[in-house]
Amino acid sequence: MTEMMDLMSRSSVRILILTPEHTDFLWYGALLRSSFEILPDLTWCPDLVDCDDLIRNARFDVIIWDCILHGGSEVAFLQYLSVSGDDKPIVALSSEPEDTRAPELLINGAADYLRKGALDRWSLARAVRCVWYAQQMSDSATGQLGLEVASGFINRDLFFDRLLQALMRAERSETRLALLHINLDDFRSVNESLGYQMGDQLMLKLADRIRQGLRRVDSLMRIGGDEFAIIIEKVEDSLDVTQIIRKVVNLLGDAVVLNGHRIAVSASLGVATYPEAGDTPETLLRRANRAMFEAKRDAGTSYRFYNQQLHITAGRQLKLEADLRNALRGNELELYYQPRIDLVTEEVRGVECLLRWNHPDGTLVPPDEFIPAAERSGLIVPIGYWVIEQACHRLRDAALLGYPGLVFAVNLSFRQFHDRKMTETIFRIIYNANVDTSLLELELTESAMMHDPDYAQRCLRELNQLGISFALDDFGTGFSSLSNLQHLPIALVKIDKSFVQELGLSRDAEHIIRAIISLAHSLQMSVVAEGVETEGQLEFLRQQQCDEVQGYYYARPMPWNDLVEFLASRNRLACLQQ
Ligand code: C2E
Ligand code: CA
Ligand code: CA
Repeated sequence: MTEMMDLMSRSSVRILILTPEHTDFLWYGALLRSSFEILPDLTWCPDLVDCDDLIRNARFDVIIWDCILHGGSEVAFLQYLSVSGDDKPIVALSSEPEDTRAPELLINGAADYLRKGALDRWSLARAVRCVWYAQQMSDSATGQLGLEVASGFINRDLFFDRLLQALMRAERSETRLALLHINLDDFRSVNESLGYQMGDQLMLKLADRIRQGLRRVDSLMRIGGDEFAIIIEKVEDSLDVTQIIRKVVNLLGDAVVLNGHRIAVSASLGVATYPEAGDTPETLLRRANRAMFEAKRDAGTSYRFYNQQLHITAGRQLKLEADLRNALRGNELELYYQPRIDLVTEEVRGVECLLRWNHPDGTLVPPDEFIPAAERSGLIVPIGYWVIEQACHRLRDAALLGYPGLVFAVNLSFRQFHDRKMTETIFRIIYNANVDTSLLELELTESAMMHDPDYAQRCLRELNQLGISFALDDFGTGFSSLSNLQHLPIALVKIDKSFVQELGLSRDAEHIIRAIISLAHSLQMSVVAEGVETEGQLEFLRQQQCDEVQGYYYARPMPWNDLVEFLASRNRLACLQQ
């Protein structure tokens, strides 16, 4: 009983201890643990590199700083700590007397100063508790959301006020807003079996986790004993909300470990969007709440949109993503190959590798139906590497079969650039495959370059140095002019099939194609026309000195074995004609 009382009155405080000495860390820890006032959750950091990482990525309530640890100047380090540590209170420790050291450190941002020689369990714990309380008071005065959650509830008035402000912003900017109402399932039994204190800690841990899945602009609030609300502003479409729901659902999926207990949680999520479900805080919350109760009917963590249509779209999207994840694991993906023909020699210069999904239901799913989902969920990154790996294997097979100069072109999505290890990973793949990199070509669209031009440029250069070449895909559909892209290592331009298919139907298409070819040639780039289906289109392209063509006229994308057969039959034909 006394232990229970004790636990109830102590508050959990996350403390980062910066000291180079492990023995000091153990000592401070022992002092803090033996205090009756706080329940310390300690992290030790002995050096500056880890410190930066921890400060930026983990969340702490208080920092205890041993003044020996600094990057050259105590004062500069202290200022860095306050700025990077999000103004978390800092308790400074050193061996020198208070009157000589404290004033300077306190002026420069320390919340308290203690002399090491005078430390005992009262002084250290009390200092930590005081600076922590002071911080919480000042945060609730300025209304910082994160700490409202950390310290418990936010009151309903404040919540409605937040929601109202967000709604006004949404109305002004004519954007969508989503309110997520999350309620933990069967929270009462957690409270009953483990006690309220633990129940509370569970909510805090979950809040921390959920916050990691949100964008900076989204706000998370605890609005009841077992409830959170999230306001998501500037929602483009239901898929944006789906992304967030997926993250929240995943984050809730792992059990929470508290004082050695593993607690599995599940929750019900209700979603109401502005303007569809209402334009006042009250209606929006009521409807999100109603949707949440609907979700309660399903077992496990589940969600419901107030708006039925949104619910269906989101459901389909999430199901597709889950299936796609299995597809990658279960070898359901396959590459098809479409030949590219050289218009001068009539030879097959290369092939474009095009992804197909052999769905377990027996259908062959075309990429247009699943690549967008793979891009939204980030799955395109591992899928993209799989494609390159597979293409490299086939490149070797082709050489062994007697087609040593065949170029393999692979499509690269703009989202793959989000992976900061992209060049490194591609390098590893081609190094392991041991292939002639000059036969590997990556196709990208202008949008891939636009996202972060400097970074994209750097990636292209690095890969180009390995021998890989680049093609600009779907050219003519974007906004950039070729001369803008001159400084990039692009060797080839692919004219979008929409222009080729307009040939004979519109004069504009002819002018555009002619212009692209002559400009590309003047910039020493080759040109491939895509989507060539008829003799007429082919003739026009030949007259314009287009270098290569790709299209149903010569061949559709086909499985590997068919490609091998296709190459052999063209070889036989060439022999006969000689
Ligand atoms: P894309 O890169 O523009 O690929 C060319 C598309 O045109 C292919 O569609 C191809 O089958 C189709 N095509 C080729 N010749 C003709 C023709 O004569 N007439 C018509 N109507 N269509 C023709 P597919 O295979 O359905 O691929 C669609 C898109 O999916 C590709 O467009 C590409 O953007 C994307 N994609 C395919 N594989 C991958 C991949 O591995 N990674 C990424 N990121 N995207 C891929
Ligand atoms: Ca392509
Ligand atoms: Ca294309």
